[in-house]
Amino acid sequence: MHPEKHLKAATTDLAPTKYLMEINFQLADCRNLKALIYQGTAKNRYRLDWTGETLLLHVPRGTAVSTVEKILHRHRRWIHNRLSKTVPIVQNFEQNHKIEKAMLSPDPIFLDGTPYSLLWEESDQTAIVIGHKNRLLLLKSTQEIKTHFPVIITQWAIRRFLDKIRDILLFWKEVLALCPQRVFIRPTRSQWGSMSRNQNMSLSWHLSGFEEKTLRYIVLHELAHIPFPNHSHRFWAMVRKHMPDCQEAKRDLRNFYPSPSWLDPFNGKRQSLELPEWNGKFR
Ligand SMILES: [Zn+2]
Repeated sequence: MHPEKHLKAATTDLAPTKYLMEINFQLADCRNLKALIYQGTAKNRYRLDWTGETLLLHVPRGTAVSTVEKILHRHRRWIHNRLSKTVPIVQNFEQNHKIEKAMLSPDPIFLDGTPYSLLWEESDQTAIVIGHKNRLLLLKSTQEIKTHFPVIITQWAIRRFLDKIRDILLFWKEVLALCPQRVFIRPTRSQWGSMSRNQNMSLSWHLSGFEEKTLRYIVLHELAHIPFPNHSHRFWAMVRKHMPDCQEAKRDLRNFYPSPSWLDPFNGKRQSLELPEWNGKFR
């Protein structure tokens, strides 16, 4: 199987996939390359694909790590050739014509469980555009504003996450007639979420890269702790009643969707952010 063919196919065939792991791979010239491994939808096929300078490899379910390494080794020449001509020109970016763009960050940003490359394009007006088709996050701005991209993208990412959480809370409020008093986002790694005795909900910032279904499960789980503080039979009965396929979301929580180190609204500190205007809405 010729990987170039698969690269071509990949731009038109972006089936939803599951992130499995990250592998560091050494090229012939001793450069290290990061490869993100996904579980693809095809049964016996694998697919190589790129997002910026990050290699993506889609493998069938249950593929061994040793097999992944063999695949990468077999295609090392192609990977090397492709990397040595990394010109940040992206075709078919929504409008179907060539635009030259600068890559802002070598690490992808995860949105809804999918990695997006962060690019910049010169413009008088500041805007952030998501290109779902080519998995690109485009910052349009002046050269001056471009230098502040970590702040701009971080503010945008936290707002997007808070909006999503608010939508999910409103959805479950309709269904369950339950809602927390206050909602906090914290940079916790040990816990995805919690519900305090006075019904304040905390959610981890590290959930921001996950897909909506997983967030929906976390919020449901914490809301179910309002009537049932422990993980009792009745607690799980309530969760399963409203989300019969919650196992899938629970499995997804074992994945890791890493953010670039600069994408941190907490600047490495142990602070919290409160979901704004939540109190006023329900009192
Ligand atoms: Zn719990």
